[in-house]
Amino acid sequence: MLEIKNLHARIAEDGTEIIRGLNLTVKAGEVAAIMGPNGSGKSTLSYILAGRKDYEVTEGDILYNGESILELDPSERAAKGIFLAFQYPVEIPGVATMQFLKVAMNEQRKARGEDELKTPDFIKLVKEAAASLQINPDMLKRPLNVGFSGGEKKRAEILQMKLLAPQLCVLDETDSGLDIDALKIVSDGVNALRSPDRAVIVITHYQRLLEYIVPDSVHVLYQGQVIKSGGKDLAHDLEANGYTGIIEAAA
Ligand code: ADP
Ligand code: MG
Ligand code: MG
Repeated sequence: MLEIKNLHARIAEDGTEIIRGLNLTVKAGEVAAIMGPNGSGKSTLSYILAGRKDYEVTEGDILYNGESILELDPSERAAKGIFLAFQYPVEIPGVATMQFLKVAMNEQRKARGEDELKTPDFIKLVKEAAASLQINPDMLKRPLNVGFSGGEKKRAEILQMKLLAPQLCVLDETDSGLDIDALKIVSDGVNALRSPDRAVIVITHYQRLLEYIVPDSVHVLYQGQVIKSGGKDLAHDLEANGYTGIIEAAA
């Protein structure tokens, strides 16, 4: 579903190369974890997948279902079923969360040539999804992410993901700022999205999240490259031994 080939990318503003020859393949049905020390380029990779203009791809390619997405803008990527939950979710003042969700769902339907959702149907879908994530209905009336706690922001991201049912989900440090109860709720939400025709990429610093979302593959990112890939046991090794051994072996 996703094939990243020898990707090189730099910060558009100053030309600093952050992604330096990254290779990664994620199949439909797979949950892939990307781990790596702070500053290794994990969030940058998620921004590049989203199509943010702050980064320039200078070499390599990103294939999604066999086609390059490099020329697509962020909304075209979203319409094709790519969803990114960022480490720092964007605040949207003045737009109630409910309204935001309605627009997002209808945009997606429009892109697929489907009719707009009828309001009662929309409300039913949102209420059910919110309840499953233990989101207080009052939160849906507030502007998206404005004044939300860390945990509320993460739940709001998973709520969007549930409603938009993307094919490729990328979650950047969804565990940061979550207490153990919220972590379980969010993980259950992600696990419910597992399906044979969907791929999930979980970016995380710690192994803890991977106790709840058990990955099929684990990839270690360091200095803009995948330096080691393995199965779920690789995450346990990292927890026990840290990144140093793997980094030295790669060097
Ligand atoms: P991670 O998510 O793995 O912690 P990031 O992708 O956030 O790492 O950052 C990788 C490196 O790139 C860091 O050194 C960071 O400071 C730098 N970086 C990323 N984006 C920018 C930017 N827009 N401007 C300046 N530096 C950036
Ligand atoms: Mg970081
Ligand atoms: Mg990051």
